[in-house]
Amino acid sequence: MATQLSNDSKMISSADEALNVAREVIATNSATIAATIAATIAATITVAEAERVTWDLVVVGAGIAGSTTAILAAREGLRVLLIEAKRFPREKVCGGCLNPRAIDYLKRLGVAEELQGQGTIALGRLHVQFGRDPHCWPIPSLWSVRRSTVDSILVQKAIASGVHFLPETVGMLQLLSSDLPSSDSVASKRLITGAEHVDDGPGSSIAHESIVPESIAHESIAVEVRPAVGGQRSSSRRLVTRVAVVASGLNRSPLGGTLQWSSTVASGSRIGVQCMLHESELSKDSFLIHSPMFQDQQSLHMLVAPNGYVGLCKTDGGYYDIAAAVDPTEVRGKNSIPATIDSIVEYCGYRPDAVWHTKPWMTTPHLTRASNPVAVPRVFLVGDSIGYIEPFTGEGMSWALASGFAVVPLIASAIRCNSYEDSSSKWNQWAIQQRRFSQSVCRWVAKQARMPRRAQWVLRVCDWFPPIRNWIVRKATQ
Ligand SMILES: Cc1cc2nc3c(=O)[nH]c(=O)nc-3n(C[C@H](O)[C@H](O)[C@H](O)COP(=O)(O)OP(=O)(O)OC[C@H]3O[C@@H](n4cnc5c(N)ncnc54)[C@H](O)[C@@H]3O)c2cc1C
Repeated sequence: MATQLSNDSKMISSADEALNVAREVIATNSATIAATIAATIAATITVAEAERVTWDLVVVGAGIAGSTTAILAAREGLRVLLIEAKRFPREKVCGGCLNPRAIDYLKRLGVAEELQGQGTIALGRLHVQFGRDPHCWPIPSLWSVRRSTVDSILVQKAIASGVHFLPETVGMLQLLSSDLPSSDSVASKRLITGAEHVDDGPGSSIAHESIVPESIAHESIAVEVRPAVGGQRSSSRRLVTRVAVVASGLNRSPLGGTLQWSSTVASGSRIGVQCMLHESELSKDSFLIHSPMFQDQQSLHMLVAPNGYVGLCKTDGGYYDIAAAVDPTEVRGKNSIPATIDSIVEYCGYRPDAVWHTKPWMTTPHLTRASNPVAVPRVFLVGDSIGYIEPFTGEGMSWALASGFAVVPLIASAIRCNSYEDSSSKWNQWAIQQRRFSQSVCRWVAKQARMPRRAQWVLRVCDWFPPIRNWIVRKATQ
């Protein structure tokens, strides 16, 4: 036992040494951060080392919500591990516009200056077009930034705050069926894990069951981890933590094949798609260069059609971010994402740029959805994992940040009091409030955009009555 303990502390101290080195490098000066944004962010711990620690908090997913949660939990003095499936930096489907509320949270995290240092572009105008009729309005300043930039800065901040980072590793919770919302089908205590459960994918849900000692399960949560590339179930390892946070975005793989943990997808829900174009790649006659509407680089452009909408804006590093929400039936019908984007751009009277037919497009599963519940004792969902409304006004990142800020005090107090029921029920209430109030304007705007006549009227009313327009814009970008 004594040998085991001393091995444990060696492992932990060597992992902590690696973390300290990483922190020193990051703390040296912010120029180092800038230099490391483009470089791969290395793991600060190995799986074997992580396996020997009882973590206070394991966060699965290092997007905006996961990194925010990890940073704030580390500031509370918790021992935190942040697991991420991808190699960082990585892009993801997103318009990359940070609204004033998101910027405020980033200031509180202490990363706003570094972000600006990366060349974020301040957008002060919205150009919205349903069909051929353009409308241009002032908006509260948004920051346009690539997700590879902002997410990497947050992960670097997490490491500098004492969080251990384990990239290119897939995490999956092992939950007792009795911890889950409807355990009626399973009388005995069983561990339910799932493999390769890809949302909305055809026939991809596989559930594996095995018995775990109750004592372990009651004091902690187990998180199964395996390498993201080439990792077989046989090579998976098990980490132990007091609390787990699922911050995996629209991907529900950390919840495995636990069908009891339901996610409702709205009927007619769209999918998200995105492509990044460097300015040097644009065609010579591209409307992005020649159309007077698009010459204003401080505008967020929204082109809307009945089958979806495309958001375009200039972002850091000389890139254009082209992100869209489109009907999946349309993409299937045309058998092509860029052809679907072409149809929206043409509907608004512009000639599409052929270059995006040569670029890779990223996609998401169905967008509008809600998880229920969003917490059980010791497990909390944050960010898009809670649920999402089709992105019209680009507030997803501020919701993700808000959820990180709101969940950490509950987790810290649950761990301190060793009492988890109350925090999980408070988190479920928080999510209900969020859906009811904060997301209502966004839901309303997305609904209008699907009805051509109504949308035209709403846009005109906004032109005629600027106070109404300003109210909608303010609410929608909060
Ligand atoms: C088309 C479109 C445009 C948008 N535009 C905007 C915008 O302009 N402004 C805005 O604020 N929001 C926008 N959003 C919304 C925004 O992108 C999301 O709300 C935000 O990314 C949510 O952050 P998150 O941290 O919850 O999830 P994510 O950012 O999706 O991060 C989840 C992370 O978890 C990782 N992961 C997943 N499964 C596992 C696993 N099993 N193990 C380990 N890691 C895992 C993923 O690799 C990923 O890095 C847009 C969304 C779409 C679809």
